[in-house]
Amino acid sequence: MRDILVLIEDLIDAPAELAAAARCFGDVQTTAFVSGGTESEHQMLAGLFDCVKVAPAASDANWCAEFLCAQILPLLDSMQPHLVLMHHTNNGLDLAPLLAAKSDRPMLADCISLESRENGVSAVRTVFGGKVHARISATDSATGYFATVRSGAFSMPEDTATKSGSIVALPLIETAPRRRFIETITPEAGAVDITQSEILVAVGRGIDDEDNMEIVEELADALGAELACTRPVVDKGWLEKSRQVGTSGLTVKPKIYLTVGVSGSFQHLGGIKGGPFMVAINQDAAAPIFAAADVGIVGDLFDLVPLLEEKIRERKG
Ligand SMILES: Cc1cc2nc3c(=O)[nH]c(=O)nc-3n(C[C@H](O)[C@H](O)[C@H](O)COP(=O)(O)OP(=O)(O)OC[C@H]3O[C@@H](n4cnc5c(N)ncnc54)[C@H](O)[C@@H]3O)c2cc1C
Repeated sequence: MRDILVLIEDLIDAPAELAAAARCFGDVQTTAFVSGGTESEHQMLAGLFDCVKVAPAASDANWCAEFLCAQILPLLDSMQPHLVLMHHTNNGLDLAPLLAAKSDRPMLADCISLESRENGVSAVRTVFGGKVHARISATDSATGYFATVRSGAFSMPEDTATKSGSIVALPLIETAPRRRFIETITPEAGAVDITQSEILVAVGRGIDDEDNMEIVEELADALGAELACTRPVVDKGWLEKSRQVGTSGLTVKPKIYLTVGVSGSFQHLGGIKGGPFMVAINQDAAAPIFAAADVGIVGDLFDLVPLLEEKIRERKG
């Protein structure tokens, strides 16, 4: 039976998603690698994987790709897994290429689906800002394969955490990383905390000019929502950084998320958790945001936003 090694970075949503991704390969032996964590977290992993290998945490408990690489490489040597899987996060992007290069494995990055092929691994990833799905593959590797998967692309039914995997403690592999963690700089809190908002209106580059921001502010006001935005809106100085949603911004968990002139890049969508009811207004019917939205409205935001605001105010009396 083939072995798949799954590298666990975040212990909340990631394990079940990675277990689901491993299932794309049929009947396989799955091993999860985790550095640190609590006993109950290891038990949770044992419900999802056949084996859990627990390495000691780095002495300062911070993420360090070089430290992790030193802990994982001996495991790759002894296991020789067919595939190594991890999430395509900022930390994943730090560790995965380093490990793939050091273990001489071809790497498929940011996959949204995975398939086993007779002579390798095939995957789908998005290109051109999500407008095109491209099939990529790696074949004929004697050393096995490496893949990073996009957060949220694989989901597993809740009732399938039924394994009772073994938990094995790994010895510490001494290493002297060349990079040193100095400090975490937390962005200054803005006037509002959008991470606590139940309704968000997110504005994107489609708004075109700071002077046009008034129409989305009015819409947010009518809905009782807070304004959020994409990164280009912050880069242009139209809204403050504390309103940016995404992988380099904040993670939000609203009940309703209405986007206006947002294309739906994975960096933006990566900051939206909890499966809100999503409405998207965009003039491009092929915009990737429509794949994530529950309701999509194709049209010019400058016509639609004032109309929507008027209807909401009418409805609210
Ligand atoms: C390392 C890295 C980290 C990043 N982190 C983040 C992040 O945290 N958050 C984030 O948002 N982005 C992030 N980005 C940027 C991300 O890749 C996208 O570039 C960004 O999300 C796109 O923002 P947008 O949707 O506002 O703009 P665009 O992609 O330019 O989309 C604008 C949309 O508006 C539509 N539009 C234009 N005019 C109208 C109109 N009149 N009516 C209706 N629709 C209209 C267009 O059809 C288009 O779909 C990051 C990028 C990198 C490389």
